[in-house]
Amino acid sequence: MNEELGKDMKARITKVLGGSLHIRHVDTGSCNGCDFEMGALSNPIYDISRFGVSFSASPRQADMLMVTGGVTRALQKALLRTYAAVPNPKIVLAVGACAIGGGVFGETYANAGGIDQFVPVYVYIPGCPPRPEALMQGILSAIDKYEEVLKRGN
Ligand code: SF4
Repeated sequence: MNEELGKDMKARITKVLGGSLHIRHVDTGSCNGCDFEMGALSNPIYDISRFGVSFSASPRQADMLMVTGGVTRALQKALLRTYAAVPNPKIVLAVGACAIGGGVFGETYANAGGIDQFVPVYVYIPGCPPRPEALMQGILSAIDKYEEVLKRGN
């Protein structure tokens, strides 16, 4: 993995978020490809916990939502309820082509498509699925955007 990317992430998390970043993963209807790449972030190769990032079991303890999959009709409410439970700043990342705009599943009677129809998105991470390095880069971009929001005061 790119160690420099990890060290950069740790420095940014320390400066902007006070030392740790807690992420809640939400699957709104993925094929699990993106989820496996997210899971790789915690394996011994990437091990992003050493850079101050951890995955949270509860949205109430999370700073960030990483959403995979287009929004299936059955999970629309779950996405909205999870988003409501996350404390501010509610940083949301759309992970993969499906979360961005429906991907291979498109928009159908069963699938509404991209998540930004339901929740505001900080960063879109393209790919089908995106590699773990792209996920780390996306997390970094979201932290940068959050810092801008803090400076603007909104
Ligand atoms: S973007 Fe690709 S890998 Fe990710 S959920 Fe959609 S089809 Fe699966």
